[in-house]
Amino acid sequence: MLLYELRSCNFRSSLKSYRPMQENSRLAMPFSQPFYVLAKPVGASCNLRCTYCYYLEKSAYYPNDTRHWMDDATLESFICAYIQSQPSPYVLFTWHGGEPLLRPLSFYNKVYELQQKYAGNRTIDNCIQTNGVLLNEGYCAFFKEHSWLVGLSIDGPEALHDACRVDAKGRPTFQAVSDAIHLLNRWEVQWNALVTVNAATVAHPLEIYHFLKDFGCTFIQFAPVVERKQSATTDDRLAAPNDYRSMRVTSESLLPGQWGQFLCALFDEWVQNDVGTVFIQHFDATLANWMGHPPGLCTFSRTCGQALAMEFNGDVYACDHYVFPEFLLGNLRTRSFMEMLLSPSQIRFGQNKRDSLPKQCLECDFLNICNGECPKNRFCFDVYGEPGLNYFCSDLKHFFTHTASWMQSYVERYGHLRE
Ligand code: SF4
Ligand code: SF4
Repeated sequence: MLLYELRSCNFRSSLKSYRPMQENSRLAMPFSQPFYVLAKPVGASCNLRCTYCYYLEKSAYYPNDTRHWMDDATLESFICAYIQSQPSPYVLFTWHGGEPLLRPLSFYNKVYELQQKYAGNRTIDNCIQTNGVLLNEGYCAFFKEHSWLVGLSIDGPEALHDACRVDAKGRPTFQAVSDAIHLLNRWEVQWNALVTVNAATVAHPLEIYHFLKDFGCTFIQFAPVVERKQSATTDDRLAAPNDYRSMRVTSESLLPGQWGQFLCALFDEWVQNDVGTVFIQHFDATLANWMGHPPGLCTFSRTCGQALAMEFNGDVYACDHYVFPEFLLGNLRTRSFMEMLLSPSQIRFGQNKRDSLPKQCLECDFLNICNGECPKNRFCFDVYGEPGLNYFCSDLKHFFTHTASWMQSYVERYGHLRE
């Protein structure tokens, strides 16, 4: 027994995401662990222009298709292949964007029909990540009827949310998102908050936290912003993760020190009042690693590579944060998920998370908890001059040090209960 029930719309933190792997490890399958695909029914199209967005610029990879809508044939191929490739009786679909609610309800009805067609005796779960602006009664009725989990992007109370989350005309979006939450609550649709922590909001952890609690939100994922521009000063595109030349972080990015302070302040509040009633992904994943369980969050796992991203046309990339031409694995119409997952490049991609750690990480007391965090953020040099140190290293150390005694005592009190 854990006091927590980990749950998140995002596959990176879903308990569903590793429960099947544990329960079905004896199944003889070519790929014995579940994998996940962030499917993008509208590619990088979005009705908003959040200033920290890392995905909108991906539409430039598909200049000949203006709409970026997944067609029926691709949708059916995806649903069939995704279900049939999974080694477990549980299959989790994640609909992502861009903004997936740019597709009408009829698209999601088709999704449901196709999932029924190919499910066999497998249990299908769905989650959808949305900015909420287009949510309406029809979507809510569908999500409620079919038990879809909604991940809603909201950055905090009005002034903090609207600092970066604006529409295509630069107008604020808080009111629409607030209305969406009321709608979700009225329909009793399960929802999680995805809070992007950026330069404008990082000084306000408790304000954001209390705001979400007041809205009845009990599952919260906080994601820190750090993105780099390409090294040439005239090029405004984001630097690829394997581009070590640029240290030009965007103005929305956090500065070293801020993320650690944010997490520690949040933890102190949570540990005083909300253990067991509010679930914060970072804390759950940290505790899971302390207890020797799968963290349910790829950034804190030893290796990665099982969380793919699929564009509207069936192009599959190594990860949602690695949608760059050099990380394209192939297209679903010509290559199976198994081929792509088992390709040397994808295996190398996943194992590099463990194998490319710099010396400073290998000597770190928190290596088993942190695992060097996400490779996307490893663009700094360690104290030995080795490349590959995480931009958030000092923040992570601050957080792990700050929470170590509580985590340790939790393990001592409850660690035996799940053995
Ligand atoms: S690169 Fe980062 S976000 Fe992508 S799967 Fe690996 S740890 Fe997760
Ligand atoms: S805290 Fe820093 S040194 Fe330690 S494992 Fe994480 S990134 Fe590496």
